[in-house]
Amino acid sequence: MLLNARNGQTLELDMAGWAIVKRCLDGLKHGEAGPDRELVSCLATLGFVVPAELDEFSDEEERLRLNKVDKSRLFVTIAPTMACNQHCSYCFQRSIAKTKIMSEELQQATVEFVRRQLGDSRQLVVQWFGGEPLIGYAAITFMTRAFKAICAERGIDYYAEMLTNGVLLTPERVAALPELSIKALQISLDGTPETYSGRRQVPIAKAEAHYRFLAEHVQDIVDATGSLTMRINVDRDNIEEAKYVVRLFKSHGVVDHRIDFRLGFINTSRGLVDCVPHDCFTNTEFAEKELVFRRFLEAEGYMVFGMPRPKRYPCTAVVRNSFTIDPHGNLGKCIPAVGTSQSTFARILPDDMDRTLRDATTAEMPYERFNPFHSEGCGGCLMLPTCLGSCPKHHVSGRRVVACSMREGFGDKITFYHRFHKRRLDSRTQA
Ligand code: SF4
Ligand code: SF4
Repeated sequence: MLLNARNGQTLELDMAGWAIVKRCLDGLKHGEAGPDRELVSCLATLGFVVPAELDEFSDEEERLRLNKVDKSRLFVTIAPTMACNQHCSYCFQRSIAKTKIMSEELQQATVEFVRRQLGDSRQLVVQWFGGEPLIGYAAITFMTRAFKAICAERGIDYYAEMLTNGVLLTPERVAALPELSIKALQISLDGTPETYSGRRQVPIAKAEAHYRFLAEHVQDIVDATGSLTMRINVDRDNIEEAKYVVRLFKSHGVVDHRIDFRLGFINTSRGLVDCVPHDCFTNTEFAEKELVFRRFLEAEGYMVFGMPRPKRYPCTAVVRNSFTIDPHGNLGKCIPAVGTSQSTFARILPDDMDRTLRDATTAEMPYERFNPFHSEGCGGCLMLPTCLGSCPKHHVSGRRVVACSMREGFGDKITFYHRFHKRRLDSRTQA
């Protein structure tokens, strides 16, 4: 299996085909005369052959630099509250002091900050985060109206996403999702209602009622947003229960290609709490379980998301025009670190927006200098365009300090996606 990490193209060859391609590539490398022109042209179209003078690493590094400073979009992740209505055993925010809802004064100041920070941007993207964001539903509604009015006035695009446990969703709130321009919703689950009840410390009757609600309204949620991610958090104890969740929705007749079922890896790799009371998978084990789960999803008739593709940036933390805002108005960069001081670098001052803007634009931001192309451990890695060094927190002083898990089971992953998409294409062609 060949993968072009720069453009995402894959090419599956049998041994005889690989021998021909390899001979051709070796011939080109050594400047031998008379290569198969037609084959060279096909390989060039797929990006497997490029002009000798082209330095792809330099081009990719420049592309990352430009994307980091690109101001055509403004990303804002807002936690209207750090309060939560659950107590997940693996939650990395367990130790964060729970706050009330963002004050009205700060909501207005947040809107003003966004209005002025937009500048000439052509798109505003908001992610509602928490705590549990739906606890701050009124704040979300208020700020959304204001953001939409600003964007409408300027003729620019607006959409939002939300990460939620979904417990506070009601039929009315599901129906209101288009009004909030929420185009992607992520809900987390833990397997069966029994496991969910135990891990989140909610009574079993409530857990069962929540699963019933989701099963009955999942199609409405997908129709209202256009994209639903069901993240099933797993460890060695509940991995098999991921299938239960998928089958539950299937039993309600919901097989929609806009649902992205995925496994959530309970571990400590992204600055999560150091010791979660779980029997966590190793990176290798998790990669194997993911592969099994992908095959299961396909067999059940679901779309399988997650094909590695070249990225614009590793995450929005490195993008200059991207901010996280916590309920106190602290401005930061790293989304899971919202509510902590870990990546905050400035603060929204309701009484002094000029200074807020100055601080937000002139302060050196965390991760701003992150450059995986020169980070020891990633520099020179052939996978760079598809991961861009992965989480910037895993790099300190120009060196990768957390072992890379991206290459775990990568060959199997690429092979799966290549064949999966080919099968889909073939079946569409036949239809
Ligand atoms: S820095 Fe790491 S943890 Fe933070 S948003 Fe980026 S990828 Fe996620
Ligand atoms: S070492 Fe890992 S994170 Fe770094 S570029 Fe390679 S695959 Fe990506």
